[in-house]
Amino acid sequence: MRIIIIGGLSAGPSAAAKARRENESAEILLFEKTADISYATCGIPYALSGVIPSRDKLLVTDVEKLRKRFNIKVHLEEEVLDIDPEARTITTQLATYGYDKLIFTTGARAFVPNIQNLNVADNWATCRNLADFDKISARALVPEVNHITIMGAGLIGIEVAENLRHLGKSVTIIEGGPNILPMWEPKFAGFAANVLKDKGVEIITNTFVKKVNTHKDKITSIELGPEQYIETDFLIMSVGIKPNTEILKSKGAHTLPNGALQVNAYMETSLEGIYAAGDNAGIANLITKEADYMPLGTHSNKGGRAAGFNAGTGKHVVQLNGGYKTAIIKVFDHTLARTGLGPKDLLAAKIPFKRNLTVAGATPEYYPNQKDMIIETYYHAENHQLLGAELFGEFGVDKRVDVLSTAIYAGLKIEDLPQLDLAYAPPYAPAKDPVVVNGFVATNHLLGNYKEMSVEDLRELLLKNSDLQIVDLRTDAERMHDGIPTSLHIPLDELRERMHDLDPARPTVVYCQKGMRGYIGSRILKHHGFDHLYNLAGGMLVWNMFTREHLVPSLTNELAV
Ligand SMILES: Cc1cc2nc3c(=O)[nH]c(=O)nc-3n(C[C@H](O)[C@H](O)[C@H](O)COP(=O)(O)OP(=O)(O)OC[C@H]3O[C@@H](n4cnc5c(N)ncnc54)[C@H](O)[C@@H]3O)c2cc1C
Repeated sequence: MRIIIIGGLSAGPSAAAKARRENESAEILLFEKTADISYATCGIPYALSGVIPSRDKLLVTDVEKLRKRFNIKVHLEEEVLDIDPEARTITTQLATYGYDKLIFTTGARAFVPNIQNLNVADNWATCRNLADFDKISARALVPEVNHITIMGAGLIGIEVAENLRHLGKSVTIIEGGPNILPMWEPKFAGFAANVLKDKGVEIITNTFVKKVNTHKDKITSIELGPEQYIETDFLIMSVGIKPNTEILKSKGAHTLPNGALQVNAYMETSLEGIYAAGDNAGIANLITKEADYMPLGTHSNKGGRAAGFNAGTGKHVVQLNGGYKTAIIKVFDHTLARTGLGPKDLLAAKIPFKRNLTVAGATPEYYPNQKDMIIETYYHAENHQLLGAELFGEFGVDKRVDVLSTAIYAGLKIEDLPQLDLAYAPPYAPAKDPVVVNGFVATNHLLGNYKEMSVEDLRELLLKNSDLQIVDLRTDAERMHDGIPTSLHIPLDELRERMHDLDPARPTVVYCQKGMRGYIGSRILKHHGFDHLYNLAGGMLVWNMFTREHLVPSLTNELAV
């Protein structure tokens, strides 16, 4: 039996090695159009800054190892130009080869928008492969280049921005959408934007670049709009990707609207004997049960492994059931993570949901250098099943996002979170883990006697000048620094004596710094007849972080404290 694999980066070598482990006698051929094989694309941003000390460290395996250890014949710099699914052959610039099973792992390419003058310029690159890495290293990381523009604020754009700042470059990110990191909801994306700005990264949103200005073959400035431009020395383009599926699409393979191949859980395409995995294939969203596109390294590795097993054995055994967009990114000294469905996805899928935001210590208060973690969970409004979560903090975010991802996979309800037996020792976690705290707060809501208001909703109400009574329950010292517009200051410990200052008939929002004292205050007020009562989720801390990006200027002026 001959197995042919097309594409030699992530999914391809994974499939080839698995096929060999399952089938010692098959002939396995792997075709890669470039001169490079099996390297860690995900490390490229960090190799640019030297955090990964050299290019060599990105190389995961080599042709010789694949030959010796796995008996795989690698055809480098041999591009597959055509496939005949009927005859079961592939054709390259050198020859035509027959196959019994084909594993199509051609990945995706960087999308380059139509921008005037880009075709005559040479001081720009995409950031997708080693050739891009080499160009950026040679042309952008030299002392003469001071300012670098990054177009596109997805995961790659942000990682590259951070690493270029580490090298001392001035960096501007231009994003077409209203906020960076569109996988996250705007509030959490805003938290990351705050950090980037504090570290000197300029961020321009809602801007689609249509033209660059050039001198000879050099981009000298980027046009943002009429009479508006920024001068730059180099441009890095990371505005999205396009699956490399044209060959199979032209043979009738079924695809998703973005061109990614439709595969089943065994990674079979709609064409007999042809498997696909990685960035060129869609996988199921395990929550919506719809076909989805999640071009991430974790899925390409697992999908390649499944395809390799099934093609190698001829059996339908190993599955990649799907995913739900768990992702994490380092933003300087902070971490932003997500899993499952966010509010945008839930609204689109018409799934009724509730949100629950908490701020809790990632380690105990008594342990040095304690850091807060913000977690917002999204759960089904009727059956309470956990559907998604977003997280932001400086310590331990990676662990909590994986706990919540596992909880989603297990179909847990929000009330299950406090029952999880999570590890506790001072250097790692507090006795009440942030995930457990989030479950406690949601359970309080579900008891029906305690309500919270999100910062988004409070902002909307303030903008509408609604008849809200806002009460700041923090100490005098805290109040000296800041406060929410129109709020009345009554420290929590004076609330019982000063309750007559408040009108129980008016809708009331209380807040403290992070949420806990607001909860206590709202319980006191509730027992004294306040019915339209809310605690501000995340308190002043989250309000400040949120309104830095999302407060409209008129609110700042009219309602200043
Ligand atoms: C800078 C960067 C950072 C990333 N960071 C992360 C991260 O932190 N976490 C994460 O989960 N994911 C990350 N990713 C995404 C991850 O790298 C991809 O999901 C993964 O590489 C996809 O693997 P793949 O094998 O499907 O496709 P690709 O990596 O695109 O490889 C496909 C290969 O097929 C070859 N090929 C294409 N067509 C042909 C043909 N006709 N003939 C022969 N060869 C062909 C290509 O040359 C290429 O080598 C990152 C990606 C980039 C670019």
